[in-house]
Amino acid sequence: MTVPFQVNDPRAVIEADRAHVWHHLVQHKPFETVDPRIIVEGKGLRVWDITGKEHIDAVSGGVWTVNVGYGRERIADVVRDQLVKLNFFAGASGSIPGARFAEALIDKMPGMSRVYYANSGSEANEKGYKMIRQIAHKRYGGKKHKILFRERDYHGTTISALSSGGQQERNAQYGPFTPGFVEVPHCLEYRAQWDLSGEAYGERAADAIEEVILREGADTVGGIVLEPVTAGGGVIPAPEGYWQRVQEICRKYDILLMIDEVVCGVGRTGTWFGYQNYGIQPDIVTMAKGVASGYAAISCCVTTEAVFDMFKDDADDPLNYFRDISTFGGCAAGPAAALENMAIIEEEGLLENTNAMGARVIDNLHALMDKHAVIGDVRGKGLFCGAELVADRATKEPLDEKRVQAVVGECMKQGVIIGATNRSVPGYNNTLCLSPALIATPDDIDQITDAIDKALTTVMS
Ligand code: PMP
Repeated sequence: MTVPFQVNDPRAVIEADRAHVWHHLVQHKPFETVDPRIIVEGKGLRVWDITGKEHIDAVSGGVWTVNVGYGRERIADVVRDQLVKLNFFAGASGSIPGARFAEALIDKMPGMSRVYYANSGSEANEKGYKMIRQIAHKRYGGKKHKILFRERDYHGTTISALSSGGQQERNAQYGPFTPGFVEVPHCLEYRAQWDLSGEAYGERAADAIEEVILREGADTVGGIVLEPVTAGGGVIPAPEGYWQRVQEICRKYDILLMIDEVVCGVGRTGTWFGYQNYGIQPDIVTMAKGVASGYAAISCCVTTEAVFDMFKDDADDPLNYFRDISTFGGCAAGPAAALENMAIIEEEGLLENTNAMGARVIDNLHALMDKHAVIGDVRGKGLFCGAELVADRATKEPLDEKRVQAVVGECMKQGVIIGATNRSVPGYNNTLCLSPALIATPDDIDQITDAIDKALTTVMS
């Protein structure tokens, strides 16, 4: 494909970036000698950088976000029309796209009822935590205020979101943390903590949550937050049996089940929401990245009517409402883009495509496993897949960070952008992540896994 753009003075852009931009998630020293990568344009599954090089983007904008692909003019059109009509109004007022998207979203989430708008995944999770805390104060004299989170899960970058982050090394330099968050064990069977398998393993991992509840005192625990498929902590779908047991435990101890769909939400796992793969009914669901595929910044904290009702009773009490605001939750571009994004997923049958293409990724990775002993485990759900790399299949010793990054780098040389799990957490940073846009074709998938095949050959020989 030819480069679809021209940039005036690319060198000046690169130097401005080098001099003044602080990039996310990266050590800056290498940029003193290596140019930072600047992405200029995208169409479908492909992006072009400022040097004119074309890449297949197998990580949907770096962080599992651009679910419907790049260059969607129809989303740009509705966002433009909305911005000209009304860009913003915050506080207690609503907007037309806000009302229409909430209705469309709830239609996809049986059992849920209310949509609270914010801007980022971290912020949506903070809203959920505040709801759980306020309910503890309203109903239980403040006692049932603890929130459980799971080892390896990630819920965001703000201090309380980090306080509920199960990747300890990632958090290490940002304490002291918000009190009242308590960790439960991860559920990755490949790195088993119990000598069981399949459904029995899943149930045991859920029982470990109950043990923590009993240790802490059930009357002190108000909520638990879980990713439906752990993302940055290793692409971990829970084993069979896990979720049903989690739901039972939450009901038994009157604990609110909060599901973080920031990555899995809006199609990524082949259902509208990740939790819908497992037949559970959460009380609170948060979402961000795929909600508008990155065409506007929007996140949502969605609750049941029962949760919402708790903030509506005692209406004469001036303190009895959710005393929270998000300024840019009032940006009308977000729900306008989100509504169009959802229409595209529906009209183009992208959930079905996600299931078919996800199965193809898993098949291709299994085939690579026969060829490359460095692949220790392959797992995923829909177009959210991972290949865990190990130095030794028998001991499962994680492949070292340098070689994991070398695999990512070799793919990049071939024009394929893939991801790897969180670099800053030793022992968790060895899983390659594949999460292309939900529009991926069989050909795209094969190109991506072919690049991994070549990269593994180069790095491991
Ligand atoms: N939850 C999960 C599961 C995430 O992966 C992330 C971001 N990677 C967040 C929350 C935080 O979202 P944001 O970066 O938009 O604050």
